[in-house]
Amino acid sequence: MSKVLIIGAGGVGSVVAHKCAMNSQVFSEIMLASRTKAKCDKIAAEIQEMHGVTIQTAQVDADIVAETVLLIKKFQPKMLINVALPYQDLTLMEACLATGIHYLDTANYEPKDVAKFEYSWQWAYQERFREAGLMALLGCGFDPGVTQVYTAYANKHHFDEMHYLDIIDCNAGDHGKAFATNFNPEINIREITQPGRYWENGEWVEIEAMSIHKPIDYPGIGPKESYVLYHEELESLVKNFPTLKRARFWMTFGQQYITHLNVLENVGMTSIKPIKFQGMDIVPLEFLKAVLPAPDSLGENYSGQTSIGCQIKGIQDGQEKTYYVWNNCDHAECYREVRAQAVSYTTGVPAMIGAMLMLTNEEWLKPGVWNCEELNPDPFMDLLNQHGLPWNEKVNVELPHEYPA
Ligand code: NDP
Repeated sequence: MSKVLIIGAGGVGSVVAHKCAMNSQVFSEIMLASRTKAKCDKIAAEIQEMHGVTIQTAQVDADIVAETVLLIKKFQPKMLINVALPYQDLTLMEACLATGIHYLDTANYEPKDVAKFEYSWQWAYQERFREAGLMALLGCGFDPGVTQVYTAYANKHHFDEMHYLDIIDCNAGDHGKAFATNFNPEINIREITQPGRYWENGEWVEIEAMSIHKPIDYPGIGPKESYVLYHEELESLVKNFPTLKRARFWMTFGQQYITHLNVLENVGMTSIKPIKFQGMDIVPLEFLKAVLPAPDSLGENYSGQTSIGCQIKGIQDGQEKTYYVWNNCDHAECYREVRAQAVSYTTGVPAMIGAMLMLTNEEWLKPGVWNCEELNPDPFMDLLNQHGLPWNEKVNVELPHEYPA
């Protein structure tokens, strides 16, 4: 029985709050806090109506350590789940250290003024968390998150040495909008407009954004054009599995999405450099975010599925072997269960599972700062099956995108 504080009341925060409330045997008291309290209250009312559970709500600016510290002291949770934005990772880690509680997030820290994704800032907290006897679990969504648990599971049960890893992420859903992003638009657009990168033979190969693409055949969906992007879990995976000769991340985008994105980029709307507008400094990408649909508004009438998985090639008992593990998730089913679309759902459920393991499984509560592949994958894989993200696996399949880069 543990109290949990969830920060962030967007698409993902809503799913985490619903799923924690649905598991009140572990999460005995829940507080949802965010910058805009009205959003927390709306989610709390929905949870009361759908699951008969009362959760508390609060307003907090998570950029200000002292504000979060005050809230933690008042509510006294055992851990904090950060599903606000990556900009808040460090201030929230500081607040956890100051109050002696555990920490979990779903995306690595990014400074607001540079679109740069790397774990160095958060890994630098290793000693402080270890010395305090506290745990910080980083990137516990689907990707990052489950993709690392899948890889650790493959490494433990299927390979003596893993050599090639392709993470493949497809959203074949239709939300009926001309252009919208499935998670925070600002973070999403920063991620895909930066140069792509993949790991090969001990070094990073940088490519022009979206310049490598192929159709990949996704189970239950069919072939979809997929693009090589840099994705943050690659950094920790190649560090923790040094036998990997190549590691890439692929994501699908429809032509309509790419056309809109190209236009927005060409006219300067995706820039994070402030410009003067009517005497004020504004950041074009922040303005764009304000006019695009919010991720938590896309769920109703969203149809189709997501499919995210890992395809791995390596050696077991001296023989070459391939392994594919994946989950398909249906947007409409997620909406029925927790009023969310599948991208928020596939992020929020693993965050709840990570928190559940930290609170109930001694092996999973390890002082220090960790990425998801550094803990025993087996209990996580079991809980995925129990809490709405069942996985499938195939051994020795032909990997459809074994192309040269
Ligand atoms: P949303 O934009 O829908 O929600 C973000 C929430 O954070 C909003 O409620 C926002 O409040 C709140 N927030 C922002 N700044 C602050 C602040 N300073 N203090 C308190 N609250 C704040 O985003 P999503 O729910 O789609 O995404 C949430 C996180 O999940 C992101 O970090 C994203 O990168 C990550 N993610 C991870 C994935 C994974 O698989 N690992 C996949 C998808 C997302 P307000 O409403 O007032 O703006």
